[in-house]
Amino acid sequence: MSIFSQSEFDSSRLSYFENKLIKKYPFIKKECIGYTALSKPINAYTIGDNGSAVICAAFHALERVTSAILTRYIFEKAEEYKNGANLSFTAIPMINPDGVDISIHGIKAAEKFLPLIISRTNGDTQSWQANARGVDLNHNFNAGFLSVRKNEIKNGYILSGPTRFGGGSPESEKETRALVNFCKKNNFSAAVALHSQGREIYYDFKNHAQESEKIAKQMSKLSGYILSSPENIATGGGFKDWFCEYFHRIGITLEIGLGKNPLDKCVADTEYDLVAKMLDVVVLQHG
Ligand SMILES: [Zn+2]
Repeated sequence: MSIFSQSEFDSSRLSYFENKLIKKYPFIKKECIGYTALSKPINAYTIGDNGSAVICAAFHALERVTSAILTRYIFEKAEEYKNGANLSFTAIPMINPDGVDISIHGIKAAEKFLPLIISRTNGDTQSWQANARGVDLNHNFNAGFLSVRKNEIKNGYILSGPTRFGGGSPESEKETRALVNFCKKNNFSAAVALHSQGREIYYDFKNHAQESEKIAKQMSKLSGYILSSPENIATGGGFKDWFCEYFHRIGITLEIGLGKNPLDKCVADTEYDLVAKMLDVVVLQHG
């Protein structure tokens, strides 16, 4: 068992590691990209040059094992960088800390959204995927939003709640806006979104970023993860979708691990090597 899998990876566990990270590797650039609905900071960490790949985790509350894996990855790459490796990337280990804390700690983590969350869950938050306002952040990006909304309504996701409600309008959520603005300010060459589960790789969105396929194929070859055709989730609303459509640059979603969410915290150990190999494709600089 590694230190990254010892306990459920909530926002305070992340803060613990973030403090250690900055002390141990002072060359890492830390930026707060914005705050959540419950005023928790969303932090980004850059090693090497700005404008390489951006890697983001825990859009969905039940998928916090992705935060543990990405945090471990930052530590390992920082050590390699210190020893002279040529690499650069920006990592945002937890896009949805409010949701993660609610899914782990229950309604006591809901703070001012307690009445809303009780009304939507009867107090049982074990299947909470959304942010504290009951919006699914990976349906809230401005890419094909209307068709996402239609699909949600067809499937009964009409109100804010634990999952699959994309909000009243695209970018209605502070977390979404923070990430969108941060990407617009930086010149990222690629975006990788970490989700769980399925051992699958999704790439591109409506042929806006066709280079994505080449990267996805390399990742698949290294890991055995299955390539999923982009058409399967062409309904949109996700971060990858928006990144591909807005910048016409490489966008990849990795569905990490196998099982039922939330995956066991030991997946941060058992799946680490495969995920690291895939991330290295966009992080290691060649030539
Ligand atoms: Zn997800």
